[in-house]
Amino acid sequence: MRVNLDNLRYNYEAIKKRVGNAKIGASVKADAYGLGATQVGRALYGAGCRIFFVATAGEGKILRDSVGPNSAIYVLNGPSPRDKGVLLGAKLKPVINSLEQARFWAQVSNSVNEPPYTAIHIDTGMNRLGFDEEEFKEFARDKKLWNALNPEWVMSHLACAPDKDHPLNAKQLAKFKRAAAQLPMTPLSLANTAGTYLGKPYHFQMVRPGIGLYGGYATKNPEQEDIRTVATLLAPILQIRNINKGESIGYNASYTAPRDMQIAVLGAGYADGVPVLASNKGFATLHDEAVPIVGRVSMDITMVDITDVHMHKEVGGVVVFRGDQLENEANEIGTVNYEMLTRMGQRLRRDYGKPEKTKIQTEKQKPYQPSKSGYKKRR
Ligand SMILES: *Cc1c(COP(=O)(O)O)cnc(C)c1O
Repeated sequence: MRVNLDNLRYNYEAIKKRVGNAKIGASVKADAYGLGATQVGRALYGAGCRIFFVATAGEGKILRDSVGPNSAIYVLNGPSPRDKGVLLGAKLKPVINSLEQARFWAQVSNSVNEPPYTAIHIDTGMNRLGFDEEEFKEFARDKKLWNALNPEWVMSHLACAPDKDHPLNAKQLAKFKRAAAQLPMTPLSLANTAGTYLGKPYHFQMVRPGIGLYGGYATKNPEQEDIRTVATLLAPILQIRNINKGESIGYNASYTAPRDMQIAVLGAGYADGVPVLASNKGFATLHDEAVPIVGRVSMDITMVDITDVHMHKEVGGVVVFRGDQLENEANEIGTVNYEMLTRMGQRLRRDYGKPEKTKIQTEKQKPYQPSKSGYKKRR
């Protein structure tokens, strides 16, 4: 996996420009969407980011070692008795999602000298994590409980931000403001990456982008998004074989060659993040040309059809997954760019160096453009 940290920083700056004075709390959960929280955290820190969101206390502890003591790290899943030691030890700030979590963390806070600040998460229509309206009213009235938790932020999360015309956006915004009006002093945060495109009223004092930092399109209008590719998966060609019409390929013989074919056997499989669902469906690119996956993706190996590639192909060459075809690959197999990124496996060697000067392509060709989607090619 090649991770371009310059482009990560470019994407960070682009979001910063869009949101003006609002702070950026970077979402680096799930190992920074599969790209490596340690390196990504450090790069974002270098770009000026001082607020981070992770999902679990364990992720927070790892990130703390990467970004040092003067960053705020919030744990989205909230506090639990099991995580108490890690939260306190690594000075993580729990996001409080319910009265139950509030009462538990107030107890913890009252028992230590310097209890960490918190963020309060209210649900405004996602029906995932967060206080519901009634619960929040009760909580907001309970000054003792509120003070015990030292809330620094009140936040909520948008369900349909990629679609700017979806009526739930305005509904959630209104509900969020209504709840926040009960607490005039606390700064607010509502928008994920897609939410930053909904305009100023959605930005408040902090936005919480994830996917846009990592070069994934966040909205239904990708042409409005100025982002650069961050993650590319490179698979070596281990073997090239010529097979005859009628022969089958791979486990379960799920593919039968309709003609004489040439296939490349790639050293990357589902353990590396090429989904089994991409079997006989997905594609990779070789010299910027789509090469369809043929046969079932196996643990360590994927086969692709290179019959129609006329440019140089040899054992030891590399075939490209993700990169600027991230969304196209996701669409072909019916998943989302988020999953395509986070699936990239632990086994991959991660290269954070400068992008290679020697281009993989030997000759410029028209990039693959599947009919289903209109994603533009990124830089
Ligand atoms: C994951 C997450 C984000 C970031 O979302 P993106 O769509 O990746 O920008 C922000 N807020 C919360 C609560 C999240 O769970």
